[in-house]
Amino acid sequence: MSKGLFVVLIFLFNSSIAENVIVNVFNDKKLQIIEVQPLNLNYRICIDNDTIEPQSSGTIYQLVADDDSIIFSSNQNVVRRAKRIVFFNGYGCTYRIKSVEPIIESDLYEGRMEFFNFYCNIKILNSLELEDYIAGVVEAEAGPRLPLEYYKVQSIICRTYILGHLKRHELENYNVCDKEHCQVYKGKSMSNPDIQKGALLTKNVVLMDNDLNLITCAFHSNCGGETCNAEDVWNRPSFGLKSKKDSFCLKQRNAKWEKIISKEEWKKYILKKNSNLDSLDLPSNFSFIQIERKTLYQVDKIKIPLKEIRLDWGFKSTFFSIVDNDDKLLFSGKGFGHGIGLCQEGAINMAKQEFLMNEILHYYYKDVTILDLDKVKFFKEE
Ligand SMILES: [Zn+2]
Ligand SMILES: [Zn+2]
Repeated sequence: MSKGLFVVLIFLFNSSIAENVIVNVFNDKKLQIIEVQPLNLNYRICIDNDTIEPQSSGTIYQLVADDDSIIFSSNQNVVRRAKRIVFFNGYGCTYRIKSVEPIIESDLYEGRMEFFNFYCNIKILNSLELEDYIAGVVEAEAGPRLPLEYYKVQSIICRTYILGHLKRHELENYNVCDKEHCQVYKGKSMSNPDIQKGALLTKNVVLMDNDLNLITCAFHSNCGGETCNAEDVWNRPSFGLKSKKDSFCLKQRNAKWEKIISKEEWKKYILKKNSNLDSLDLPSNFSFIQIERKTLYQVDKIKIPLKEIRLDWGFKSTFFSIVDNDDKLLFSGKGFGHGIGLCQEGAINMAKQEFLMNEILHYYYKDVTILDLDKVKFFKEE
């Protein structure tokens, strides 16, 4: 058996559990009181070991954390105390879930919803089909009014990520959280049917390296005209994440930014960063030019990694030049984000110009293999 095929077989074995994904929703919130409103009657509720039928349509169930359990009631006043409440048979049922304490705007969820008391708060696990999860993430990460071809690209990125991170929260008994730590998920995709279509049309398609490992599918809002090498930002290389010039994002919303900082403030910052310098060592002119991306801000004896400056000042990118103007410094920057991998605004523009999904992915991810896992499975079965 060739090494490549062996790797694929192992990968398929690991990914065969991934038809559903378990997401911890409202991950960072300490939920005390929540309301669950099923939008149709296609569900059952399991309260500890008892199963109850749905009540009339429009019923709102209330769950209140109380010591180590949950007090469960509905607007027909059924009150029970339970450890665990599950809404199931729910594929096809959508739930409006709202936190009353703390107050959080309601979102719609689909699939199986499990509620239990966790250290005196209510924890929610949402188990749903992978493609539905992907559509929800694509809507949260990309927004509602984009070309279908772009939704296909973002779906593949999202799928590659989730299949590589199914064990990220293994110790907590779920796959992923709904925050930036994993991928942002705000519930069911509702705003544009093309988002769901993009996930389904690319079902099973992922990005891999030459050894058929899933790649790290980094992306950012706008590269400013040149993407970064992964090693220049993360201190380690990563397959496919190589710097390249990008002309597609130059006229987009996040292509440029500006900031003015007083020279006094900047001098203080430089001295704090370089403890071996004193004010006599500072240059009279702090001008700095980036035509192509650099990794260091360097003026006379001063050297500071640009990624540190971005973090310290909350700049949109590291791709900036400085014009020294008497007592002020004018920062003119390009792009928004870390600059690694796919540039979203460039990729959206490519999709609008009718470039195809594969062309867009190969443009931003160098030498990647775009692979349909189902076709590999077929090859395995031959
Ligand atoms: Zn997470
Ligand atoms: Zn770009």
